Amino acid sequence: MPSSAPSKSPQTFHRNTQQRRQIRDVFERNDRPLAADEVLQLAQQKMAGLGIATVYRTIKALTGEGWLVSVEVPGEPPRYEIRGKVHHHHFHCLKCRRMFELEGCLEQLGKMIPPSFRVVDHVVLIYGLCSSCARAGKTRSVRGKRKAPKS
Ligand SMILES: [Zn+2]
Ligand SMILES: [Zn+2]
Repeated sequence: MPSSAPSKSPQTFHRNTQQRRQIRDVFERNDRPLAADEVLQLAQQKMAGLGIATVYRTIKALTGEGWLVSVEVPGEPPRYEIRGKVHHHHFHCLKCRRMFELEGCLEQLGKMIPPSFRVVDHVVLIYGLCSSCARAGKTRSVRGKRKAPKS
C-alpha cells in the first residue's frame, strides 16, 4: 500500500514547537546577545536532550523570520539578539566571553564625522571585563592568572 505519510509526525511537530518556544524564552529571559552554545547551555536547563544542531537550526529560522538579528564580534562566533530593541551598544567580556547591552549612545560620536559626510549607521563594541570577572581578577593574585583558559 503506497503510503503518503507526512514527513513530520505530529509528535515531531510538537517537539519542534516546544524547542522553539524554549529557545525564544532563553533570549527573552536573558536580555543580552547570546552565542549558539550559550543558548544550548541555557535551554538545556529546561530541556534535556536538546542538541546544538537544533539550536543552530532554530536560530537560523528565527533570524530568517526577522525575530533575531546577529551581532558580529571579530574573531568570534556571532551572537544573536531580539530584533527591534531601542538603539544600544555592546560590551564584550574578554574573560567569560559574555556580551552585554549598554544603554544609550556616545554623544561625542557625531563630532568625529566631517560635516560633508552623511552617517547611515554605527556600531560600537567595547571590550573589557564584566563586573564578576573584574572582581575575580582583583581577589586573585597576579600570579594566579596562569590558570589555563577553558575553551
Ligand atoms: Zn566576564
Ligand atoms: Zn549609538
